[in-house]
Amino acid sequence: MEAAALPAELGAGLPVGLGAELREAVSLAEFTTWRVGGPAQWFCEPEHNDQMVGLARWARRQGLPLQVIGAGSNLLVSDEGLAGLTLCQRRLQGSQLDGATGLIEAQAGEPIPTLARRAARAGLGGLEWAVGIPGTVGGAVVMNAGAQGGCTSEWLQEVTVFDPNRDGEPFVLASRDLAFAYRHSRLQQEPLVVLSARFRLRAGLDPAAVGQRTSANLRSRTSSQPYQQPSCGSVFRNPEPHKAGQLIEALGLKGLSVGGAEVSSLHANFIVNTGAALASDMDELIALVQQRVRQAHGIELHPEVQRLGSFGEPTRAA
Ligand SMILES: Cc1cc2nc3c(=O)[nH]c(=O)nc-3n(C[C@H](O)[C@H](O)[C@H](O)COP(=O)(O)OP(=O)(O)OC[C@H]3O[C@@H](n4cnc5c(N)ncnc54)[C@H](O)[C@@H]3O)c2cc1C
Repeated sequence: MEAAALPAELGAGLPVGLGAELREAVSLAEFTTWRVGGPAQWFCEPEHNDQMVGLARWARRQGLPLQVIGAGSNLLVSDEGLAGLTLCQRRLQGSQLDGATGLIEAQAGEPIPTLARRAARAGLGGLEWAVGIPGTVGGAVVMNAGAQGGCTSEWLQEVTVFDPNRDGEPFVLASRDLAFAYRHSRLQQEPLVVLSARFRLRAGLDPAAVGQRTSANLRSRTSSQPYQQPSCGSVFRNPEPHKAGQLIEALGLKGLSVGGAEVSSLHANFIVNTGAALASDMDELIALVQQRVRQAHGIELHPEVQRLGSFGEPTRAA
């Protein structure tokens, strides 16, 4: 989609040079790994943190709702799309690693698999589990992403955030202040935007050994999960002590579909887009799986995937 001519009343107060980068009616299906979702009313991919902050404040002054996304790998965006401004962090990449101390400073848009590989090459241990998670550092912090026994909060020291609803400077929050729990942080409830993160890993390890562990983790995931099809990873949080995938598989729900949404035949906690799925298909299939598991086991499955925009009441699961 080409840059739209901005209405004069919206141009006022835009960060310098960003008028042309702000695009109108951009399909968010292209910015989510599920490949579903309607348009963002306004959309931009800032390349510097000051642009990010400036655009967020501009949206507030214009009275436009703001949504920040990373790699879109844990998002279900409604077919109607999102009103206001959507800012995608994926161009805000970069990281500095200190092989001696194990300290890493990473921009919010840095891909987590890139960081895991760089850490391994520097002989830093801790992020071997992160190589198969196709998200950004910012998204990993917000979601407390984790796999294979590791998670973000274990290695995170602090994050730099800003509050788009106020005019103050960006500020630092320590890891202990983020209310981390299983796939949870307080940033899921508060509208703070992550600009960068500082991790401390284990230093002084053999890069070849860390690299081998990292590659083995990736191989084990790609052989047991449907990486070749559009998905959002695991749809449901595990209802401890159970595994969501095992509960779904035991009910014979692999292959169950609504429109273009299908419970993966490789891993039952994944729903894949078989080609032309709508967000409403995903939403209805989620509700159908929840209903079947509730009826059979009396267990409520809670989606891990974050819904953005408005969704009607699912009809087929009623
Ligand atoms: C094939 C596949 C495998 C996966 N495997 C795993 C796994 O093993 N473990 C796991 O935990 N997850 C997994 N996921 C899910 C997903 O990759 C993670 O949740 C990831 O951390 C999301 O990062 P993201 O950048 O894509 O965030 P998005 O999906 O873009 O956003 C997720 C949430 O974070 C918010 N957000 C994103 N960036 C920022 C920011 N900078 N500031 C403030 N808020 C922000 C968004 O508003 C949204 O609420 C998988 C996904 C896929 C597609």
